[in-house]
Amino acid sequence: MLIKTEECKHLILLILITDILMDENLKNNTNYLFNMRLIFTSFFLFFFFLSNAQINSDHSKVILITLDGLRWQELFSGADPQLINNKKYVDDTTALKELFWKSTAKKRRETLMPFVWNIVAKKGQIHGNRTLGSTMNLTNAYWFSYPGYNEILTGKSDDERINSNSKKPNPNKTILEVVNTDSRYKGKVAAFGSWDVFPYIINESRSKVPVNAGFEEAKGENLSSNEHYLNKLQKATPSPWNSVRLDVFTHHYALEYLKNNQPDFIYIAYGETDDFAHHGDYDAYLKAAHRTDSFIKELWEFVENNPYYKDNTTFIITTDHGRGTEPIDTWRSHGRSVNGADEVWLMTFGKGVKPLGEIAIKRQLYTNQIAASIAKLFHVDIENAGDELDFILNED
Ligand SMILES: [Zn+2]
Repeated sequence: MLIKTEECKHLILLILITDILMDENLKNNTNYLFNMRLIFTSFFLFFFFLSNAQINSDHSKVILITLDGLRWQELFSGADPQLINNKKYVDDTTALKELFWKSTAKKRRETLMPFVWNIVAKKGQIHGNRTLGSTMNLTNAYWFSYPGYNEILTGKSDDERINSNSKKPNPNKTILEVVNTDSRYKGKVAAFGSWDVFPYIINESRSKVPVNAGFEEAKGENLSSNEHYLNKLQKATPSPWNSVRLDVFTHHYALEYLKNNQPDFIYIAYGETDDFAHHGDYDAYLKAAHRTDSFIKELWEFVENNPYYKDNTTFIITTDHGRGTEPIDTWRSHGRSVNGADEVWLMTFGKGVKPLGEIAIKRQLYTNQIAASIAKLFHVDIENAGDELDFILNED
């Protein structure tokens, strides 16, 4: 239980006042004085601890997740008929269609991401289906990763300074840093990413938010046997990329950290969807989306079965950018020159989220609104961020 200094001061003050008042009025009756003091003190202590217990057992936990460059087209319509049949992007079209092809977009998306469409769609909200009028866009000018993550995490694009993917420490404060700086949550924030630029995006050295990203191992004195085993496996597993690890490691390092360290705010950044798309490997891109859906399901099942997180946790899931559609080869890439690469999506479920399902009304969201929404959940302030998504969250 956390006891806030401010509340402590109030309590001491109340006890002192009680003492002084009784000392003045009841100087000659020491037994009566002692009893009254005991009653008053117990009374204050009871309400003090009751209110604190409620604050701290109910306070919000947030699991923020990103799927790098997953298109809204696959999220809302499943496998793309123009790509799943295209031998340029799929080695074995028959085998891939057996896994992910169905006659309707609704069935295809449920096949590709069953947790999202069977659970999130019932419990929470899914924004960004442009065919239904729900739109979400980036506000940064670049439509690639560092500017996208900077916008998600700081609530503001910074086109002058955040204009490349190079490993430069972020001059802006992320919501992770803001929450970690608050005395109520100090040491209760962590981030896990597949891409090795995250320690710079989150400015690990300044923010003091621990970031395990790229090919970093779990570190520390009290590692679990699973963490030791993950370290061993990661070292022995060839990765297709130099700067991005396979998501299975990011996921399980994060899950172990949740189990063993109980962070109040964790950020998990999966990366495979983007990198397999850049390869032009539609087979691996769809399978990565499907696996990530199962990772999110595993996180949710963990939360449901853990008393620290159950009923207290809000999931927020989004992407750093979209990808192209026209001409068809632009599905592989993104950036300012690719039409539609600023089109993104957002899903959220859990504590405080109204169960509105797939949003089918005309409404424009922006990526720079996410940080302020997280700030609201933690009752902290973030400067210069976009407006919070107030229609998503229930009133307190
Ligand atoms: Zn990319």
